[in-house]
Amino acid sequence: MEKKPFLTLEKAQEIVKNVPTPFHIYDEKGIRENCRRLYKAFSWNKGFREYFAVKATPNPYILQILKEEGCGVDCSTITELVMSEACGFKGSDIMFSSNVTPEEDMKKAYDLGAYINLDDVNFVPFIERVCGIPDTVCCRYNPGGVFELSKSEDGVQVMDNPGEAKYGMTEDQMEQAFLKLKEDGVKHFGIHAFLASNTVSNEYYAALSGILFELAVRLKNKTGVHISFINLSGGIGVDYRPDEPTPNIALIGELVHKKFDEILVPNGMDDVAVFSELGRYMLAPYGALVSTCMHQKHIYKEYLGLDASAANLMRPAMYGSYHHITVLGKENEPCTEKYDVTGGLCENNDKFAIDRMLPKVENGDLLYIHDTGAHGFSMGYNYNGKLRSAEVLLKEDGTYKVIRRAETMDDYFSTFDFSNDYKFNTKL
Ligand SMILES: *Cc1c(COP(=O)(O)O)cnc(C)c1O
Repeated sequence: MEKKPFLTLEKAQEIVKNVPTPFHIYDEKGIRENCRRLYKAFSWNKGFREYFAVKATPNPYILQILKEEGCGVDCSTITELVMSEACGFKGSDIMFSSNVTPEEDMKKAYDLGAYINLDDVNFVPFIERVCGIPDTVCCRYNPGGVFELSKSEDGVQVMDNPGEAKYGMTEDQMEQAFLKLKEDGVKHFGIHAFLASNTVSNEYYAALSGILFELAVRLKNKTGVHISFINLSGGIGVDYRPDEPTPNIALIGELVHKKFDEILVPNGMDDVAVFSELGRYMLAPYGALVSTCMHQKHIYKEYLGLDASAANLMRPAMYGSYHHITVLGKENEPCTEKYDVTGGLCENNDKFAIDRMLPKVENGDLLYIHDTGAHGFSMGYNYNGKLRSAEVLLKEDGTYKVIRRAETMDDYFSTFDFSNDYKFNTKL
C-alpha cells in the first residue's frame, strides 16, 4: 500500500520551532483506531484482551492511551513493571513474560499480582522460593523444530526457527510444570508461545492458535487442570515496505475464531480467553522518526547526512530492515535521485536506507522515517555520545505534546561520579 505520513510539513515545521529534530512522533488517533479494530476482530471471545508489549514503546503516555482502550501490559523486567504500575496497571492487567528472570523482578511481578508466564520448568521451584505460588500461572511453550507456513493467498511465506530459540518449554516440561503447580494449589492455567516475528501473513495467528489450542486440550486431558487463557503473544507484523500486504486484523480474528470453534469448543473449553501480546502491530505504523538533512556528500555514491542516527533507530543497522522515507512537502515529487541515507555514527552500518530513490533533497529538508512507533526509540542507545531524542504525541485534536524530552549531556554524564579525587575539570 502507498505509505502516507500522518504528519504534514506544516505541522512538522510548527513542532520543530519548539522541539529540535530528531524526534519520534506518535499518532494518537491512529493508535486508538487500531486498538478498536483489534478488539472488534476478537469480540467473539468473551475474555479477549491485548497486553501491549511494553518493550516496543515504553512511554507512560502511550501506555495510558492503550489503557483507555482496554489494553493491559506485557512486561519483562522490573523497570517495565514499575512504569506500568505508575500508569495504574495492576493484577490481571499485567502479563509478566520474562526470561532469565532475576529474583527481584519475579518478586515485583508477584507483588503486583501480575499473571506470571514461566519460561522454564525450573522456574516452578524458583517462584516457590523467591515469591510464592499465585492462583493463576502461565507457561511458555516451545514446539521446537522449524515453524513454517506455506505461501498463502496473500503470497507471503512465514518461517522461523523455534528449535533454535531460547524461549519456552517442551511439551513434557509443560505437563510436569502443570502437575507440580496444580499440586502446589494453582487453580487456573495459561499457555503462551511466540513462534514467528513480524509476520505479514494473515495465517500466522490461526496456525499458532491451532497448535496451542490442541496442546491445551492434551494438557487438560492429561493433567486435569483448568486452562483459563491462551496467549498468542506478539508477532503480527506491519507492512514496512509499500509492496507488502497490510495484515487484515478482522480476518485474523475470524481465522482464530474458526480454530477455537473447531478445537476448544468440542472439548468443553469454550470459556478459554484468548490474549494477545502485540507490540509492533499496535504501534509501529503510528510512530515516525522526523529528522533534518544536515549535509550531503558525493563520493562514489550520493549520501544524505541526517541529524538522526542508528542511535535513534537501530533496526536498519541491526537487521537490515526497510523503513520507508518521505521527504515532507515533496510527497508528490518524482523520486529521481538515488541516495544512501546516513546518520553520523562512526559505523558504516549507520544507514537508514541504501540506494533509496527519493526526490531531490536540499539541506534543511525534513525527512519522515515511517513505522518507527515500535522497537524504534526503545532500542536506542548512546554510542558515540549520541543523546536520545524527544518523543512527541500528535493528539487527536491536532495539537501536540512532548511526552519525553530529549536527553541532555547532563543526563548522559549523570551516572559518573565527578566528585571524587580524580581531578576532573567539571566546570566546563
Ligand atoms: C517482543 C515480545 C512481544 C511483542 O512482539 P511484537 O513482535 O512487537 O508483536 C510479545 N511477547 C513477548 C514475550 C515478547 O518478547
